[in-house]
Amino acid sequence: FEGMTIIELAKRAGESIPVLQEILVNVGEKVESEFDPLSIDIAELVAMEVGINVRRLHSNEGAEVLPRPAVVTVMGHVDHGKTSLLDALRQTSVAAKEAGGITQHLGAFIVGMPSGASITFLDTPGHAAFSAMRARGAAVTDIVVLVVAADDGVMPQTLEAVSHAKAANVPIVVAVNKCDKPAADPERVKLQLASEGLLLEEMGGDVQVVEVSAVKKTGLDILEEALLLQAEMMDLKARIDGPAQAYVVEARLDRGRGPLATAIVKAGTLVCGQHVVVGSEWGRIRAVRDVVGKLTEKATPAMPIEIEGLKGLPMAGDDIIVVDSEERARMLSEGRKKKFEKNRLRKISEGATDSLEPSD
Ligand code: GDP
Ligand code: MG
Repeated sequence: FEGMTIIELAKRAGESIPVLQEILVNVGEKVESEFDPLSIDIAELVAMEVGINVRRLHSNEGAEVLPRPAVVTVMGHVDHGKTSLLDALRQTSVAAKEAGGITQHLGAFIVGMPSGASITFLDTPGHAAFSAMRARGAAVTDIVVLVVAADDGVMPQTLEAVSHAKAANVPIVVAVNKCDKPAADPERVKLQLASEGLLLEEMGGDVQVVEVSAVKKTGLDILEEALLLQAEMMDLKARIDGPAQAYVVEARLDRGRGPLATAIVKAGTLVCGQHVVVGSEWGRIRAVRDVVGKLTEKATPAMPIEIEGLKGLPMAGDDIIVVDSEERARMLSEGRKKKFEKNRLRKISEGATDSLEPSD
């Protein structure tokens, strides 16, 4: 939509030019000529008003694209050890090392590898979060760690996780957990997974399987290596310069600091002080904190951050876009709110209910 004129937008939206001009007037935008290119914010707003869906695509053309760390999510059946594994991995993280084990909870953490590479873990385990994010089009996760307890084997939510990952086209690395237990039978788990259609590496496929114990903290370094290898095969890259495209991973209200959002930048650089629209909320980024809680000026791709300065509480999976001014931010946020409300009412009248799986 960048640089689109009102004529082109009208064509795309199947609306008449006067209708779009009226919308522009309503939002206080002066367009001298219908041949003038619209800013992307205005184009999105107008498109939204006439009910067409827009997804911002920042072109990478001409921009420098550099390798970026992988973003990893943990999934699996209840009680198979997702939380324990994340806790164990967190203890190997940069934050744990820098802060001497006292980590501030951010909803994400970074594990630094001896090679200098790093892996970003989202520590909201669970299928609900993953589905909610996917439903909003937030392709935040690059790799899913599928946790399967070695004593319990493949269970319903294991299969559910596999189908989520497959639907999202996200590769899986299997962590067979609880291998310290006497009843552990990793070979049985592998056969079960294979019979469910997972093409395991040791059977000639490309899904890596690592045996771990979250409690005894064994196999964690091997799991991290496997994830790094998977990431290398994926050749993950992102544009570093230019406006950030980011997603909310988690949000909470802090009594003193107001709405706080943990976010991951997917492309570009997010800079403190910028005006943003986050889902249907808006604000000006007053502070950016890194995983150790240190104030930082900017955030680059795959870097988990906490941002402060939003007017309202966004939702997991909301996109973060940078706009030129406070006015634009407020305007876009209002437009999106109206659109969401319209969609919600439509859904209710269609008798559809929001189906979200229970979170764990
Ligand atoms: P989640 O529901 O998948 O998040 O599972 P939890 O991390 O809460 O773990 C469920 C239970 O399994 C807890 O009692 C854990 O202590 C236990 N558990 C998790 N990982 C291991 C492990 O590697 N070995 C053993 N023996 N127990 C584990
Ligand atoms: Mg848990």
